[in-house]
Amino acid sequence: MNDTCPTCRHYAALREQARQAGDYSKATDYEVLRRRHPAHIIHIPRQPEGRAL
Ligand SMILES: [Zn+2]
Repeated sequence: MNDTCPTCRHYAALREQARQAGDYSKATDYEVLRRRHPAHIIHIPRQPEGRAL
């Protein structure tokens, strides 16, 4: 997670709104959007499993 990213916070807020409204499919959509936020490609490698740190 990246709590400093305003876009992610926006998605997280929308996700929470959807969940509280009982719209879980929409909540999942926003969760996916947040996880795939392009700005995080640098910070979150697509295949962390393949790296031996
Ligand atoms: Zn983000």
